[in-house]
Amino acid sequence: MSAPVQTLGILGGGQLGRMLAMAAARLGIKAHIYAPESNSPAAHVAAGFTCAAYNDLAALKAFAQSVDVVTTEFENVPAGTCDILANHIPVRPHARALEIAQDRVAEKSFLNERGIATAPWRAVATAPELDAALKALGTPSILKTRRLGYDGKGQVRITAAKDAAGALAAIKAAPAVLEGFVDFEREISVIVARGTDGAIACYDPGENDHEDGILRRTTVPAAISEATRKSALEIARKIVRTLDYVGVMGVEMFVASDGKLLVNEIAPRVHNTGHWTLEGCAISQFEQHVRAVCGWPLGSTARHADAVMTNLLGSEADDWQALAAKDQAVHLYGKGEARPGRKMGHVTVLSAKA
Ligand code: ATP
Ligand code: MG
Repeated sequence: MSAPVQTLGILGGGQLGRMLAMAAARLGIKAHIYAPESNSPAAHVAAGFTCAAYNDLAALKAFAQSVDVVTTEFENVPAGTCDILANHIPVRPHARALEIAQDRVAEKSFLNERGIATAPWRAVATAPELDAALKALGTPSILKTRRLGYDGKGQVRITAAKDAAGALAAIKAAPAVLEGFVDFEREISVIVARGTDGAIACYDPGENDHEDGILRRTTVPAAISEATRKSALEIARKIVRTLDYVGVMGVEMFVASDGKLLVNEIAPRVHNTGHWTLEGCAISQFEQHVRAVCGWPLGSTARHADAVMTNLLGSEADDWQALAAKDQAVHLYGKGEARPGRKMGHVTVLSAKA
């Protein structure tokens, strides 16, 4: 019996697409990457590659005809691109999930409307609105662009009301949200998956350390109580269920000092904080995503080890000989230029389950 999906189309050509393509290959599924960048790490390991803009109608149509289902490896694919593709073939997750995650106002509104707590926030588009938001939320607070932020880019911390004008200028007066600063005890994330049959599976929450707004390390298990762990999983399940989501999603959360959970962001895709599952679980987040979007049953999320995943940023990946000599799994993404802060690879160390 041949599988219903023989070719999986992936929008986006970065390292997440690369690891998805490799997981698909293990299941006998070919990956076809669609990305505007000619040197795309995902294309190096894929069966097919279309290098075209996201609004190239002819290229999108040909892509739709050459794959059985389409997924995304980054959330900023224009929603219109997904709509065009969805006229021809299934797009999973659906465009609405991307739209919500692309806009911090839509994202926080979606969460709050479902009774899920976030940092206090206000939408801000003008200087008077920022002043009013600062009065309401106080300082310190963080001004974030509504769209296109990643790795802490497009964010400014405001420590005093007098810094408001400078902060707005720093984000080029782009439409934004002001968020109250959360004095969190730790940051965690839940990698959750939902299948086409509505089944939901969560991996154990990881604990995340950031440096300069960029993820440095994920440690599993997170040092949280069983009650906090259960609530974190419940929140993640509620998000994918109410969104009628299909695929893997990363849900980033703050654990406040009183144990309360606040959702920071949702990422409608496989997530950097889930890379440890490649070695720590029989079925990784990447295979889980491929299974979900291709209509397979979800696999086990059981963890057979404790794990620490560390990102290799910029030139840190250059000394691959030293990295490989240590007792750790090395992943290099095959990217050309090692710009400072750029995610070039990661390493994972496993240890016996405590
Ligand atoms: P990424 O793409 O890495 O997820 P991003 O650019 O979308 O990042 P956020 O996740 O919003 O940005 O923020 C990056 C980090 O900054 C958070 O993980 C957290 O450490 C810190 N941070 C963000 N918002 C707040 C807040 N309201 N209070 C305290 N710290 C925050
Ligand atoms: Mg984030």
